[in-house]
Amino acid sequence: MKLPVYLDNNATTPCDPRVLEAMLPWFTEKFGNAASNSHQYGWEAAEAVKMGREQVASLIGADPKEIIFTSGATESDNLALKGVFEMYAGKGDHIITVRTEHKAVLDTCQHLEKRGGEITYLNVNRQGLISLEEMEAAITGRTILIAIMYANNETGVIQPIREIAAIAKKHRIIFFTDATQAVGKIPVNVTGDGIDLMSLSAHKLYGPKGLGALYVRRKDPRVRLVAQMNGGNHEMGMRSGTLNVPGIVGLGKACELAAACQSDESNSLQALRDYLEESLLQLPGCSRNGSAVNRLPQVTNLQFANCHSGELMIRLNKHIAVSSGSACSSVSPEPSHVLIAMGLTEAEAHSSLRFSLGRFTTREELDYAISKIREAVGQLNPDLRII
Ligand SMILES: *Cc1c(COP(=O)(O)O)cnc(C)c1O
Repeated sequence: MKLPVYLDNNATTPCDPRVLEAMLPWFTEKFGNAASNSHQYGWEAAEAVKMGREQVASLIGADPKEIIFTSGATESDNLALKGVFEMYAGKGDHIITVRTEHKAVLDTCQHLEKRGGEITYLNVNRQGLISLEEMEAAITGRTILIAIMYANNETGVIQPIREIAAIAKKHRIIFFTDATQAVGKIPVNVTGDGIDLMSLSAHKLYGPKGLGALYVRRKDPRVRLVAQMNGGNHEMGMRSGTLNVPGIVGLGKACELAAACQSDESNSLQALRDYLEESLLQLPGCSRNGSAVNRLPQVTNLQFANCHSGELMIRLNKHIAVSSGSACSSVSPEPSHVLIAMGLTEAEAHSSLRFSLGRFTTREELDYAISKIREAVGQLNPDLRII
């Protein structure tokens, strides 16, 4: 067993060895630029990109022409929000989003506010879910975009995506979802779900870091975006820059693997997650944050009364790798904005930890983690010393 036990798969997943193997030749002997259309090196790189695009499209029920490769979900989120804001400026300037979004969405929205945008931040209930009525009531004649994540990175809570999409469609508003945590973990289908724009990232599904994609719907409606990166007109003119061929091959392979094993993997992850969660919930003072029903199979967010998560992590660091809140904001002493939006007090948010499992998590690792967490919680919470 490798220590510390890695239970932070929502921050990043290890690259699957099969993904790495598929990528390797594209760094060395097959090094061509996919945009070089005058020779063999370029042609074979373009073929590899074509296949990667098809593999991504196939996993999410899209047409390959609707996949725009980016450097990751942060860039995809920026391109979706800023690209729509600039393209549809003539129609309106209002965007509806949620307080529990990832910082890549929230920070971009704040940036747009400084440029004259009007943003509505929807609240969530204790379960982490938005109200569809509130969302519909927020729509105005100037609303150009609804931006609501598929599943939350901190709690795993899944929003009612199809219902949101139906309301957006009824009002002819573009619907964008950051599905970075959902793709490959649960079935995501842009057609069935009614999604117009969607972000995903390779390193959250056992692919390489630094590669992501934005799904951009081409009909009913055809979504147009103002490029945020200008240059050689790559990616339908929406994102210039020489394509990261090894990364695209890796994302493609990761999507192919996810398509093949998603439903089995989801069942086994859920069983492991439930085992971890049920074991820890037996500790007095331990409770779950967020909906138990509408959520991803691999994650649980738990509160440990009277234990500061920072103190807990110091005690646990040698044994397990977990996080309080998201990786992107875990350097800041601020409590998780997601948990605060769900109505937790600062103290409650500061006593919460996120455990996220992955493809390579074993029962043995969880048993080890459970015993170490029990010990650490017992040391910190005097009420628990008896156990
Ligand atoms: C990880 C994550 C991102 C950022 O993805 P990068 O590819 O690391 O830029 C965005 N949104 C969500 C929901 C995430 O979990």
